[in-house]
Amino acid sequence: EKRKESSPRSTSSLSPTLRVSNYTRGSYPIYFNMGKLGASRRPKCIDGSAPICPSDCCDITDSADVVIEKKAAQDKLESEGIEGRDESDIKELLVIGAGPHALSLILRLLEPKADLLSDKDRHIQGEFRSRMRPVSDVYRHVKKLSKGPSHTLKRKKKDMKCSADVEPLTLEEVHKSVLVVDKNGSWLSGWKQNFEALRIKNLRSLMNAHADPYDHRSLEFYAEMIGRGEELVTLPSLCQRDKSFRGPYQVPSTALFHDFHDLLVKGYGIDDIVQKGTVESIDPVQDDQQSDEPIFEVKVNFGLESNDRSTIVKTRRVVCAMGPMFHTGEAFWEATLRKELAGKHYPSDRILHPSEIVPYLKSRDEPQHHDAEPLRRLLIVGGGITSAQLALLAAKSPWCRGVKLIQRSKGIPRHFDVENKWMGPNRGQLLDEFWSLDMPERAGLLKSARLGGSIPPETLEELLRCQSQQHMNLEVQEEVQISDVCWNDDQFHVTLDDGSDVEGYDMIWLATGSENSLDFYSAFSRLREILPVDVVSGLPVLNQNLSWHCPPDREAVEPKWKDKARERLWCMGSLAGLELGPDALNLIGARHGAVRVAKNIRCDMANKPSPII
Ligand SMILES: Cc1cc2nc3c(=O)[nH]c(=O)nc-3n(C[C@H](O)[C@H](O)[C@H](O)COP(=O)(O)OP(=O)(O)OC[C@H]3O[C@@H](n4cnc5c(N)ncnc54)[C@H](O)[C@@H]3O)c2cc1C
Repeated sequence: EKRKESSPRSTSSLSPTLRVSNYTRGSYPIYFNMGKLGASRRPKCIDGSAPICPSDCCDITDSADVVIEKKAAQDKLESEGIEGRDESDIKELLVIGAGPHALSLILRLLEPKADLLSDKDRHIQGEFRSRMRPVSDVYRHVKKLSKGPSHTLKRKKKDMKCSADVEPLTLEEVHKSVLVVDKNGSWLSGWKQNFEALRIKNLRSLMNAHADPYDHRSLEFYAEMIGRGEELVTLPSLCQRDKSFRGPYQVPSTALFHDFHDLLVKGYGIDDIVQKGTVESIDPVQDDQQSDEPIFEVKVNFGLESNDRSTIVKTRRVVCAMGPMFHTGEAFWEATLRKELAGKHYPSDRILHPSEIVPYLKSRDEPQHHDAEPLRRLLIVGGGITSAQLALLAAKSPWCRGVKLIQRSKGIPRHFDVENKWMGPNRGQLLDEFWSLDMPERAGLLKSARLGGSIPPETLEELLRCQSQQHMNLEVQEEVQISDVCWNDDQFHVTLDDGSDVEGYDMIWLATGSENSLDFYSAFSRLREILPVDVVSGLPVLNQNLSWHCPPDREAVEPKWKDKARERLWCMGSLAGLELGPDALNLIGARHGAVRVAKNIRCDMANKPSPII
């Protein structure tokens, strides 16, 4: 009964302390009514038969009238002394991160006819066309996206009656009580920055991996409908159909993928639920109104500077979708160099670790840096796709005259970062085998399935081609490592362990992969003190639905509110590797995780028991 009270569907029973924010909440329908009014004023699409509206007559952004009306309503509230958004309000859900994993989740919370199949069932379904949704339904869905949320989320009466699933959240509920906080401030902006800085033309994953919650074919159909089918690139050097994978091996272009995801965000009406901010800590506390209920007090810095004042956002549920944090640590030669240069200038800005490379590339693109001295020679260390992409980018750029890429082992040519069989008909069996292992064995499999770094054959070929063209000034050397580095005359003097001559470099970029670890996320420190979790190979042991598992030795001693707090905090992406398998980090993992968490949140918010995963 108490949980029912906390549900957004029973706002009338909110506690008296929340009345002010309750009133604020009550103001939202005004916005929605106005949205509808505005929409009905717009002319109907002039070309009803076009798959996607070809003109701006169905533009889903607000018309000028609606913007003015919204502003007037906002001013009225402010003149009455009520802020449009009260930060002391208790949110129903706070999502940390606005990357592809968080987007997949929010869309699955909203979509009335979401694809909520388990990963195994989804792959079995993919083998039989007859078990999939009719093609016409998928086309209709994509067409609706371009017309905005009132079309995308519209449900027929008959669908509502027969729906045995747990109800989706309404858009109104999401706007009122769900907050997404991200350092970058908008959907997929971190992802887009990476792709732009590295000039990545195509995705590495297949066209059926994306955030659309309705059907795995929607990106493919979208491309066809808007006449951009050629942006689904067939990977030439792969057998399109074999024992472990039944093609097609087609990857979307970056531009197509981004346009489709922009459409999803607008089509579902969630472009304004992301707030720019950094989550500093998550503190679960007992709700003083209902003793068995938890509340999460999440400290968020909404300012641009790290010393800006932080705000406590209260929420009943938290999803952590912060993406991977890769720390390479300090290489042995860095420690030696630091000692040698003690008391002198240490050129830390010339040694870049993985997280520093994209910001450096972005700054090089800024107009004020266009006249900066070009690098005479750059050394890149790493054996994966990113180091290869960086070497090609630098070799082709006007700001670098020469590049050397070194890697510890021989380059592994592979299209995907996990073996192809994980995407084929045996995926279900492989997942079953994975789940039959204990946690340390699962951690071992995660490592072996990803095989460290690998490079798609096309990228490897391009590297070799560029190496053979003298004007590119690109050199690739395999099976070699740095043995010593000195700093002299404004240059690094690097010795490799193959006995070759010492060479000079202006910068060293360490694009070496590394393992993710819960310890790298400072936001979890306070949470882990209050709700300790078992950690295996750096990853948290989660429940099957990706919520925060209780270590067996604490089960008997924890009070009920802590138990519930564990049930209401979920991890997605790389941190969920021990549950989701080797592609937890990737877009396939985004779908896999979003299905589990969305089902769970839908049930919890509707006060229904957790579904069986
Ligand atoms: C260059 C590159 C290319 C890739 N290409 C592919 C591909 O083609 N196919 C594929 O399947 N996978 C690919 N991946 C792997 C994977 O899909 C991506 O890493 C993906 O971005 C992971 O999504 P995510 O939502 O978990 O994390 P992210 O996209 O990293 O999003 C997490 C967000 O959380 C924010 N955040 C983190 N901590 C906080 C905090 N404390 N407070 C507030 N916000 C915070 C971050 O700023 C970020 O915006 C690629 C990865 C990289 C780096």
